Amino acid sequence: MNYTLKSDHNTAVLNKFYEFINATTEDNGMNAFWGDSKYFKHPEDDFLDVIKNAKNHKMTLLSINNIDDHRSLVKVAWIKNNNNFGNLYAVYNFIAFNNKNEIIFENVLDRNTKDFKTFNVNEIKYVIHQDHELNRKTARKMVTFNKKMALFFEEDIMKFTYLLSKDMKQFKEIRGFDFDSMMVDQNQIGGETFPADNLIFAGNDSEFYPHEVVHLYTYQHFHKIHKIVDEGLATYFGGSKGIKFEDHILKLKEHLNEKDLNVYEELFNKSEHYILDDTTSLWYTIGALLCDITLKKYGKEGLFNLMNSGKTNDELLLSLEKIFKIKKADLDGFIKSELKNY
Ligand SMILES: [Zn+2]
Repeated sequence: MNYTLKSDHNTAVLNKFYEFINATTEDNGMNAFWGDSKYFKHPEDDFLDVIKNAKNHKMTLLSINNIDDHRSLVKVAWIKNNNNFGNLYAVYNFIAFNNKNEIIFENVLDRNTKDFKTFNVNEIKYVIHQDHELNRKTARKMVTFNKKMALFFEEDIMKFTYLLSKDMKQFKEIRGFDFDSMMVDQNQIGGETFPADNLIFAGNDSEFYPHEVVHLYTYQHFHKIHKIVDEGLATYFGGSKGIKFEDHILKLKEHLNEKDLNVYEELFNKSEHYILDDTTSLWYTIGALLCDITLKKYGKEGLFNLMNSGKTNDELLLSLEKIFKIKKADLDGFIKSELKNY
């Protein structure tokens, strides 16, 4: 470990850190450790997400370095102890604020975006990295899309904050990551939404990222949506990874013609993360296809039924059985035959 603060300060930070880590297993009172954030209701969420997802990696405190008299930067890594490829899960930074030896943790996002520019365009608050000039025309396209979604879902137009970054690497960096898998993705176009905070991170260097806006509406109004339908609908309306729904579907069609792949087995019994290439995943594309077929055959009412299926695989499969009147064993054949229409 790397100590650059006076040891008594470090001890206080370390003690608080261990207290926090022990408390994460109890799943309550997390907020008490963290100071307010301009953007997050729960500034600890990124940190807790890594802890949850990096279960078979060992959390390692890399360093505590002072920023000024009161603040130090705490750096944590999650590493697997074997010699296989991909041992590092993430490296994450947060601030420890020392107020007369009372330690409060802070998310680094506020600090890292203090030089970003802010613009309000109708319901959208744009927070934009320094090298980007606001393009009002593109911003208006986003405003129009937002209105279109409100009309479709028959709900109020949503207000949100849109953090415009160059790429995924940048929006992860400003949130405190030195490393995670998204940051080293070949395709750096991507987005992430914190729907409870009405906050979108767009990593496409553009004012327009429709996919993430759909997630704001589904989170708010469809509490029982399955993730395949959620990602599918976002892809149906807003594309994904910078590619339109129609083009994803053509790739899917080609892929299924070439490969001997059972869609039902792959999605529900094997890995849902099956990908066709670095922009198209089975999960998103099949989800989008199911939304499109449902809308064409049964209209918005059918789609809303699908969106209210429930979050488990069994609930989604039951819902598909009811809507399309097919058994789950027939799902693969059903999808392949429907694909002939595209
Ligand atoms: Zn999505």
